[in-house]
Amino acid sequence: MTEKKSAKEKTIFGKEKNPSSIEPKKLSLDSYLKFRCHPGVKCFTACCGGIKIVLTPYDILKLTQRLEIPAHEFLQKYTQPTYLEKTDMPGVMIKLREDDNKCPFVTPDGCTVYSDRPTACRYYPVGMADFHEGGSRDSDGNENTSAEEKFFFIVREDHCKGFEEDKEWTIREWRADQGVDVRDEMNKEWLRLVMRRKSFGIQASLSEQAKRMFFMASTDLATFRKFIFESTFLEIYELDEETLKKIKEDDVELMLFSFKYLAATLFGAKGLKMRPEKVKEKVEQMKKRQDEAVIQSVKEYEELKTEIKKAKADTGVVEKK
Ligand code: SF4
Ligand code: SF4
Repeated sequence: MTEKKSAKEKTIFGKEKNPSSIEPKKLSLDSYLKFRCHPGVKCFTACCGGIKIVLTPYDILKLTQRLEIPAHEFLQKYTQPTYLEKTDMPGVMIKLREDDNKCPFVTPDGCTVYSDRPTACRYYPVGMADFHEGGSRDSDGNENTSAEEKFFFIVREDHCKGFEEDKEWTIREWRADQGVDVRDEMNKEWLRLVMRRKSFGIQASLSEQAKRMFFMASTDLATFRKFIFESTFLEIYELDEETLKKIKEDDVELMLFSFKYLAATLFGAKGLKMRPEKVKEKVEQMKKRQDEAVIQSVKEYEELKTEIKKAKADTGVVEKK
């Protein structure tokens, strides 16, 4: 498989919007797929319009490097906001052109960012989903995002003529050819955050500030780097010299670190060490908040008792001793 390829209403989360195009068959990495996409197919680029392509942090990183523009410019020019996987987690999707409803990177000659195309474009027409409804978990309770733990399905749409080609290969070979494995590895911890949020449900509240932080860290690494090195971050968290050096100089390392930071701050995951004096401060703050909450509830209880007494007195009810 080669050259150009694309997407069609598929997502990185493995759920299709149009179930009728999904073949009702669970496939494994060793199942066979007869498919080939190349510039000679009649439908070339037909799948690069009318689609929803959600971008992962790694997609954004690769595309901004490719286009040589800062993330904020990329976001403003090529994306629009969306929510991730029916949660309240904010993310971005590619903004289609207004005139023809197509991806801004498609031309009659194919995808202009092909070697850096987003994860979702690489998946098509092979979707991936969980064996277990709601996802499977490892021994630590984390969402399992390994391809070995998933099953695959084919998204077969009438307009896609790639299925009429002679090339046959396993899903494993197809994914390797499309560079999906590398993307999965890069996206793993981020997808885990979204899936965690999804499995907690929206009844577990996430503050607006937490959502903003998630969005910033997921979409704009330059701003996230500033946040680490130019705020009180390093007064709060202990980072060894090697980590500091890596995240200062290497964007991929910074991105992977951001996932760790988000997991710790949003879900209390281990992995980031707070300075001892800050832990003490935090415990004191929590204790103070708890004390205040107890005082407040005792006060409300007393007020309620007084109101009930008054109401009974007003209506002539006599309390039993
Ligand atoms: S990024 Fe490339 S492959 Fe993906 S939809 Fe746009 S033009 Fe098509
Ligand atoms: S063969 Fe399928 S994936 Fe390839 S361009 Fe045509 S519609 Fe898109």
